Amino acid sequence: MTRSVGVIGAGAIGLGTAWHLAQQGHDVSVSDPRLNQSVDRERSANELSGTSASLGVLMGHVFRRSSGRGWRLRLRSMELWPQWIETLQAHQPDLELHPGLLQIAKDERTAERMESIAAQRVDLGLQMVANTDLVAVWPTAKHGGLHSRHDGRVDPILLQLALRQALAKQSVELNAAQVIRLERDHKHWRLHRANGDSSIHDVVVLCTALSSDVLLEPLGHARPMTPVLGQALLLQLTTGPTSWRNWPAVLVDQGFNLIPTAPGRLLLGATVEAGDRASDEPLALMRNLNKRAPDWLRLATVIEQWNGLRARPVNRPAPLLEQLEPGLIVATGHYRNGVLLTPGTAEWVATAIEQS
Ligand SMILES: Cc1cc2nc3c(=O)[nH]c(=O)nc-3n(C[C@H](O)[C@H](O)[C@H](O)COP(=O)(O)OP(=O)(O)OC[C@H]3O[C@@H](n4cnc5c(N)ncnc54)[C@H](O)[C@@H]3O)c2cc1C
Repeated sequence: MTRSVGVIGAGAIGLGTAWHLAQQGHDVSVSDPRLNQSVDRERSANELSGTSASLGVLMGHVFRRSSGRGWRLRLRSMELWPQWIETLQAHQPDLELHPGLLQIAKDERTAERMESIAAQRVDLGLQMVANTDLVAVWPTAKHGGLHSRHDGRVDPILLQLALRQALAKQSVELNAAQVIRLERDHKHWRLHRANGDSSIHDVVVLCTALSSDVLLEPLGHARPMTPVLGQALLLQLTTGPTSWRNWPAVLVDQGFNLIPTAPGRLLLGATVEAGDRASDEPLALMRNLNKRAPDWLRLATVIEQWNGLRARPVNRPAPLLEQLEPGLIVATGHYRNGVLLTPGTAEWVATAIEQS
């Protein structure tokens, strides 16, 4: 049945959910004051949305658990990504799924855990790699690494551009305004915007990350979020590798992602800092990979630097996927994996609407 759906928030989660629902034939609108801004990183570093700040790493199959909602959501998202990318390329031909993710084992215990995961997930494309096979890429590896063939990366800026263009083609209404209040109106929801407008919908979907509680708490559904800041760098190499030929799309060492983007260029991120203020110390630790960075990485020049906030639900597991009342759905609090989990989240919302 076709429903009128008001999506609030136009990061990866809101845009992806709106696109999926519109494809299913729902009458969708999206509200977000950021819709009248570009999605690039040109603005002041602390004004980026979570999605624009993110690195777009898809760490699906290397997840440490093999059961539960988090694992199922990752598996499903990884299944859906190739089809999403293929369809969205019609709007943004440069959007690609860059495959290949290599996690370096930091010690013998980690290597054993990785070996056990690799043995269980051969069919998903996981494989343990020995130090000898890492010499051309990461010669400092002492305990090998776990390679995932299908995990990897999408560019979050191109992804948002593609989704915005796809929504415009689907005639989805895009309102560049903040939603300030939600009100139940018999069997519907009225959505009040800061510009004085309001609209009425069968279903509202909150994809509002850190700001979710502002709308939910007055309705008696407190869902507080805590900010966790992340810093990232775009580096220009002055020495070291001249080609990334042997590299995967993403190399992860001690939790830091190294992402080649062009010859001699590399993204490095992201720190995990409690609160919403960027500090120098975690940035310095990341910059030299806890004193284990190769010389060429330490000598690279910083050409871009930014930070952004992740929304972590307080006392609840990330993400929050709930129908709180008939027609009131939250798809938020994705913390460190919102880009990865976008397709699975969109599908979850569509199913929740079907079943309501
Ligand atoms: C530095 C950094 C690196 C990251 N790297 C990765 C990564 O590699 N892989 C990965 O999967 N994830 C990564 N993440 C996490 C990822 O960015 C988030 O989980 C994801 O972006 C969440 O998407 P979102 O759409 O929920 O939130 P956002 O992108 O923050 O979007 C929320 C939107 O809601 C809007 N909004 C809020 N309140 C209202 C309101 N009242 N009315 C209207 N609009 C409203 C905001 O304006 C905003 O545009 C990273 C995060 C950071 C900070």
